[in-house]
Amino acid sequence: MNDSEKKKSSYYRRRAFAYSALLFIITDFIPLIFDSINNISNAPFLARENAIGALPWLILIIKGLEKGFEIDKSDRGFFYSIWEPFSDKSEKMNNRESKTNIKYKDINIQNEKKVYDSQSPLGLFSNKKINSFEKERTSKKDRKDNSDLLNIDMGSQVLERVDFILSESYDKDYSDIHIEPNENNYKIRVRKDGILQSLIYIKSLEGVQLMACLKNLADMDVSEKRASQDGKIYKKYKGKKLEFRCSTVPVRNGESMVLRLLKSDSFLLDLDTLINLSYVRNSFRDLISLQNGIIIVCGPTGSGKSTTLAAALREIDNGEIKIVTAEDPIEYALGGDIVQTQVNKAKNQTFPYLLRTFMRHDPDVILIGETRDPETANASMDASETGHLVFTTLHANSAASSLTRLLDMEIPKYKLNASVRGVLAQRLVRCVCKSCSELREIKEEDSNKTGIKCNTLVRYASVLPEEKRNINNTMYCEECMGTGYKGRIGVYELLIIDRKIKNAILKGMTDLEIEDIAIEDGMITLREYGKQLIYNQLTTVSELERVCKI
Ligand SMILES: [Zn+2]
Repeated sequence: MNDSEKKKSSYYRRRAFAYSALLFIITDFIPLIFDSINNISNAPFLARENAIGALPWLILIIKGLEKGFEIDKSDRGFFYSIWEPFSDKSEKMNNRESKTNIKYKDINIQNEKKVYDSQSPLGLFSNKKINSFEKERTSKKDRKDNSDLLNIDMGSQVLERVDFILSESYDKDYSDIHIEPNENNYKIRVRKDGILQSLIYIKSLEGVQLMACLKNLADMDVSEKRASQDGKIYKKYKGKKLEFRCSTVPVRNGESMVLRLLKSDSFLLDLDTLINLSYVRNSFRDLISLQNGIIIVCGPTGSGKSTTLAAALREIDNGEIKIVTAEDPIEYALGGDIVQTQVNKAKNQTFPYLLRTFMRHDPDVILIGETRDPETANASMDASETGHLVFTTLHANSAASSLTRLLDMEIPKYKLNASVRGVLAQRLVRCVCKSCSELREIKEEDSNKTGIKCNTLVRYASVLPEEKRNINNTMYCEECMGTGYKGRIGVYELLIIDRKIKNAILKGMTDLEIEDIAIEDGMITLREYGKQLIYNQLTTVSELERVCKI
C-alpha cells in the first residue's frame, strides 16, 4: 500500500467514525437529555442502555481535549468529512487531494532518479529519463508562469493586439517593429521609409504579455529572458503569407524585441521604379546582362542594396539560367527559379563554403550576400573568372572606394581588373508626399548648398512634429500620416570599370583620383543623382542632405 492509498483509507475510517458520532448524537444523546429532564430517576438506566452508543462520542471528546481543540491541517479533513455531503466545501477537499497528488508525483520522480542511478553506473539512462521528466516539469512551470496568457479573455486580448500590430506593419508598410522596455512602460516604435518613429506606449504588464505572446508565436523559449533569441512568425493576412523575423535581446529593464517583415515577391520593386534616371538604369541593365564578371553594389546598412539586387535578379531570371544565392539573412523571398540559401555559421555554411558548393551546382549567376573578408572576395573572383556572373555587396561609401576596399583585402590588382565589371553605389531617399508638399521656388540657402538655380521649382515637405501626430483630432495628411514623405527611391552612382579605370587601378591611384576620371567620362555621382531627383520634384533638399550629406 503506498502513501496515497494509506491516506485515503485513513480518510474513510475517519469519515465512518464521524458518521457514527453524528448518529449517536441524533438517536441517543438528544433523547437521553430529554429523558433525563422528564424522568430523573430512570436516567442512569437509560444511560447504561446507551453506553455502547456513547462510546464514540466520548472518544471524540477525549481526542479533542488531547489536542486542546487545536485543529491542524491534517485534522481539518475530519471536520470537513462530516459536512462533506451537505456543503460545497467538498470541492475544496477534492482540490486538496489533487494537489497532494502533484506533490507526490514530484517525490516519485526523485525516487525514480535514485533507482535509475543505482541501476546504471554510467548514469546515461537515468539522465535521459530525468531530463524528460524535468522537461515535463518545466513545461508545467511555464504554463504556471504564463497563466495570464492561458486565461481565455486575457489571452485573446493579447493575441488581438499582436494581430493588430502585425497587420498594421503590412498595411502601413513598416519595415521593422521595435518593442523596448522602459522603467514604467513599454515603447513600440516602427521604422517606415527608413525613419524610426514612435507608435505607442503600453503598460509594463501589457508589454510583458505582448512579448510572451510574440515569443510563443516565434517558437522561442518564453521563460528564457536572459539570453538573446531568434525566431520567425508566420501569419496569413489578406490572402498573403507574411513572414516576420523576430529577435530578442536582454536589456536593462527587461527584454527588447525587433520584428522585421520579410518582403515577399509581391513587395518587390522593379528597376524601373528604383532607378529613376534612364541613363543610369540602362547602363546597369547592360551590366547585369553580361555573361561573367563581378557586379558590386555598395552602400551603408539600410541603403537598399538587397532591394536593388533582388530587382536585378528577378529581371534576369527568365527560366533559362540557374541563379543561386547565399544570403545572411534572406531578406526577400525572390520566387521564380532562384535558389536561395541561408548562411549558417554554426553549421559552417559560410559564404566561401557555399560558393565552393555552388560550383558543383552548375550555376550561371551567383549572388553572394556580402563580401566581408579576403576569402570570400577571392572565391568570388575565382567564380567570375570561371565564367559566372557574380553579384555581391560591400560596405563602402562610394563606388570608387569599393575598389580600394577590395585592394585593402589584398586582392591583386590584376585579379580585380579581370573580374570587376561595375560598381553601383547607392542610398535610399524618401519620396516627398505629393498631396501635402509645397511646390515653390528653391530657397536661396538651399540653392547655394546644392547648386540648383535660384528660380527652380522644387517641393518642400509639410512635416507635422511627431508629438503632434500622436494627439487625437489633429488634422494631418492621410497620404503620408503627417510625415511629409511617402515611399522611397534610390540614389545611384554607377562606375563602369572600363580601360581608363583599369589603368588607374594598375597605377595605384586613390579612390578620389579614380572618381575624378570616372566623372570626366560621364559618371553621375550620388550627389548629382540626388539633385536630379530634386529637379524632378521627387524628393527634397533636406532629405538629400540627411542621406547623402551634401
Ligand atoms: Zn502628405
